[in-house]
Amino acid sequence: MAELQATETPTTTKQDERAAFPDVLRTFLWNVTVDRASDVHLHWYEGRMHVFHRVDGSVHKKRILSEIEGRQLANQLKSAASLGAVRAFGPLEGQILWPDEDGTKNLRLTVVPIGNAESLHLRVLKAPANKWDISRLGLTPEDRARAEGLVHSASGLVLVTGATGSGKTTTIYSLAALLNQHARMTYTIEDPVEFRLPFAQQIEVDEAHGLSMYEGLRTILRMDPDLILVGEIRDRDSAIVAARAALSGRLVLATIHAQDAAGAVDAMHYLGVPYYIIGTSLQMVIAQSLLRKLCPSCAQGRPLYAEEEETFRRFNLAVPSEVKEAVGCDACSSYGYSGRTGAFEVVKVDAEIRRLITSGAHQDDLQDHFRELKIGTVMRDGLYKVARGQTTMDELFRVFGTPGG
Ligand SMILES: [Zn+2]
Repeated sequence: MAELQATETPTTTKQDERAAFPDVLRTFLWNVTVDRASDVHLHWYEGRMHVFHRVDGSVHKKRILSEIEGRQLANQLKSAASLGAVRAFGPLEGQILWPDEDGTKNLRLTVVPIGNAESLHLRVLKAPANKWDISRLGLTPEDRARAEGLVHSASGLVLVTGATGSGKTTTIYSLAALLNQHARMTYTIEDPVEFRLPFAQQIEVDEAHGLSMYEGLRTILRMDPDLILVGEIRDRDSAIVAARAALSGRLVLATIHAQDAAGAVDAMHYLGVPYYIIGTSLQMVIAQSLLRKLCPSCAQGRPLYAEEEETFRRFNLAVPSEVKEAVGCDACSSYGYSGRTGAFEVVKVDAEIRRLITSGAHQDDLQDHFRELKIGTVMRDGLYKVARGQTTMDELFRVFGTPGG
């Protein structure tokens, strides 16, 4: 009896807190969180509001609301985000705190006027339940061992690369959490700070007050850091400061936008960092993508097509006896997928790679050398995950285009 009460009490509190939301909004937000949506888009088409959820990276149309229902929902969202119910004449941004059963969710609402209506977007900001744990990223044991080897490095630059929404932030935070265990003073400069790290001093870029990424980095360097985390390298000045900091005895973790590990080297050079500085500072490059994981309750096996067998062979992987397909059931809200895992390319920079980068080797030559070292591409890691029944060929097509290259 005592146990029952203990588990029911917090539920009641959350229910009470949710009761403060108007009915329409409460139902709407409840559906958003039950669906595990990361983003919600509310768009007007021909006088009706279309509601889209993004779940595990894919967009699904959920509902179409009448003009009256749509306006009511929009007004309730804006009121809850303290934006007032009047029509927006410029972009507006506000925050809604939703008392969910597994913790309060921070929802960021963006409203932008479009014609004589408004387009609304809701982003669900929530730290993953498993927090920042490198063992949960989906690295193969070999790749994970390589990444964990960084704890023995006192200095150098580590780049995490991939497209927008490829899970770079989770990876870089998980690496920082691992490295920080070794008594390191950790500072970050981010734009914006997405999640609070309990162990780091996190500085947020604030251009309006003169705090650019470059200024933030320069300030951090005066504060005796051991580990510096750079949210994303986007400009020449911060790229050079980050690389130089890595050369002066600091460990620098940064994300940069590129297709693969060799592309990350090119991206640094494109921003204006000389090859000899990239070559001497770089310790490791991790390239990645996110793949939706099959729902274990409904996934079904099927034999491979001839061209799929050929794809496995081309990537030097054993051809599996079957691959799995998404089906859809109650457990996964009929999506066929539930949650995501990473696919990775982890390059530890050795003497030869360092020499190649410093001499300004072409991206293709770098890639060839990685292959000689048996470093798999992100696509190959994805295929490996298909072979193990974690995801599907369809998902690889969606993320990588044709799995030919
Ligand atoms: Zn299912």
